[in-house]
Amino acid sequence: MIQLIRGFKDILPGEVELWQHIEKTATTLFQDFGYKEIRIPIMERTDLFARSIGEDTDIVEKEMYTFPDRKGDLMTLRPEATASICRAYIQHKLHSSDPVRKFYTIGPMFRRERPQKGRYRQFYQINLEVFGIESPLVDVELIFLLATLLTRLSIFDVQAHINSLGCPKCRPQFKSALKNFIDSVGDRLCSDCTRRKDKNPLRVLDCKVPGCKEAMIGAPSILDHLCPECLDHFETVKSGLKSLQVPFIVDPRLVRGLDYYTRTTFEIHTGALGAQSAVAGGGRYDGLIKALGGPRIPATGFAIGFDRLAEIAAMNNDNFERKPTLFIAALGEKSSTMAFEWSCALGLAGVVCEMDLTGKSLKSQMKRAHRLGAKYVLILGDREIEENTAILRNMTTKEQTPIGLDNIVESIQVKI
Ligand code: AMP
Repeated sequence: MIQLIRGFKDILPGEVELWQHIEKTATTLFQDFGYKEIRIPIMERTDLFARSIGEDTDIVEKEMYTFPDRKGDLMTLRPEATASICRAYIQHKLHSSDPVRKFYTIGPMFRRERPQKGRYRQFYQINLEVFGIESPLVDVELIFLLATLLTRLSIFDVQAHINSLGCPKCRPQFKSALKNFIDSVGDRLCSDCTRRKDKNPLRVLDCKVPGCKEAMIGAPSILDHLCPECLDHFETVKSGLKSLQVPFIVDPRLVRGLDYYTRTTFEIHTGALGAQSAVAGGGRYDGLIKALGGPRIPATGFAIGFDRLAEIAAMNNDNFERKPTLFIAALGEKSSTMAFEWSCALGLAGVVCEMDLTGKSLKSQMKRAHRLGAKYVLILGDREIEENTAILRNMTTKEQTPIGLDNIVESIQVKI
């Protein structure tokens, strides 16, 4: 039997209802705040990701599903959504009529990482991106929306980690201070960090290898090198979060090690996840639109790991599986034909109705109704047709009431 690809997964009925609930909660919230949905393809030219995410990142170096198409052009299954949204914004000149745009998108991403709990090779993200606004209040709004979404999903053990990466004006000083520090601990770093440290020392701060983490204790903090404008921006983010009562800590090691990223970066952590504690990450990338060939337009956004969100939400939310309101236990061909018509009419009226189409006995039909969790069972056989009355059984109270066959669909809707 052909099995699922390693690191990929099926989301089966029973679990998918929670995903639908999360999706509905998220889209309602985002739409209430004026965000519009954008849908982008799952495959793009490899160059787009290489240029936006960066050549010297784990994603681009090791994790992308890249292959030449029949003409030999390199294609990649998207490892994230921001690059594609930027491409669409530039390509369709969405900035020309109004540079301020607020988008959300939900969909699968692909990264060839080592699969483990909470880490997949096809995983889903919920993305929010705002273009054209430099104000730190947008960063506050994004973090506030994240915190609100988690609260609405009954996830309360939540903390935002925030940092600032400065701007092209103040970051170079920090970079050189960091480089000096890295040179002093250079022999303790992993091979990736050793290779990347000169070109992109910020990446070393982001390395998850325990030896590198340890070596970087005592590294200089970017927050000591911010220019007055970046400091101001960061202060407004902090005071905005305080006034909206979003819990946060400042984490000077939280970086996105690419030049396009500027100022605010953040992650949302929750105690429920253990080692993979980040459920979402984001930040400001004021240089990216320009770097991808568009005008100089500021931008900021985040990605939520849907799979991780669903794992935590499953601990705190009910089962959302929709159970049938009615099961029609019909005996004999005539009854089945009538029952089939009623079940179609009830379905159209929004009443979830199931019946047996395989000629089972009353006993096994009752068993199935019970297994499906039906609230009521309507029993219909030759005798009931003769007497023009079916029996409606309440599966919780076990109470049985006769119900006339004339206008039965309407009568059922009144009774249940
Ligand atoms: P990133 O795009 O790397 O900033 O990731 C944003 C969020 O996506 C993370 O906080 C995770 O929750 C989630 N995520 C990233 N990679 C994976 C993966 N391989 N499997 C599941 N979730 C992931």
